[in-house]
Amino acid sequence: MPRALITVAADAIDALLPQTQCRRCGYESCRAYAEAVAAGDAPINRCPPGGDETVAALADLLDTPALAIDESCGVTSPLVIARIDEASCIGCTLCMQACPTDAIVGAAKLMHTVISDRCTGCELCLPPCPVDCIAMLPAARVWSTADAERARQHFMARNARLATSSRKREQNLAPPDATRQRRRAAVDAALARARSRRAARSVAGT
Ligand code: SF4
Ligand code: SF4
Ligand code: SF4
Repeated sequence: MPRALITVAADAIDALLPQTQCRRCGYESCRAYAEAVAAGDAPINRCPPGGDETVAALADLLDTPALAIDESCGVTSPLVIARIDEASCIGCTLCMQACPTDAIVGAAKLMHTVISDRCTGCELCLPPCPVDCIAMLPAARVWSTADAERARQHFMARNARLATSSRKREQNLAPPDATRQRRRAAVDAALARARSRRAARSVAGT
């Protein structure tokens, strides 16, 4: 399929995915999974958070048979939300770095806390926590399309922020053009002085 058509299909598929960004499908984001499905590289049944409902919607969109959820990706279960035991938190920030929707707030060496409205229940914050002080608790709500849209926006905003900081880091590492030119000129001048000293010595020696 031409690239442009894959992108259009991926947009439509992505719109049906729950946007928890949990990676249970084996892809790094809902968008990446949508692109793989659009390209024919992944089946439609690898999203446990979306469950049978999402599989049915994808089957309808793509005019293909519905499949049972692939349980190697996990099982469909009610929404859970992360909660940090603040008394045990050591403020290492590792959970914040892992959270795809910026649902965790805190600062280095200070306790962290979860903004429950932003939490998608993806569980990506659990493995990095060195003191195992994050628990997943049943949510008081079900995941809605409004939640999915909010999670998509938070995820995109986070990616944009990370891309900007990485560009800034690279710019800070690479010296600006003017600095490079000054350094080059200093090296050229030193070489010229060395050459003229050598030339003067060889004239004196004759
Ligand atoms: S919700 Fe999780 S499993 Fe479903 S597509 Fe998004 S990242 Fe993949
Ligand atoms: S707080 Fe944890 S479970 Fe909730 S979205 Fe962030 S990483 Fe996922
Ligand atoms: S990973 Fe655990 S200990 Fe570290 S800041 Fe998060 S909750 Fe606290």
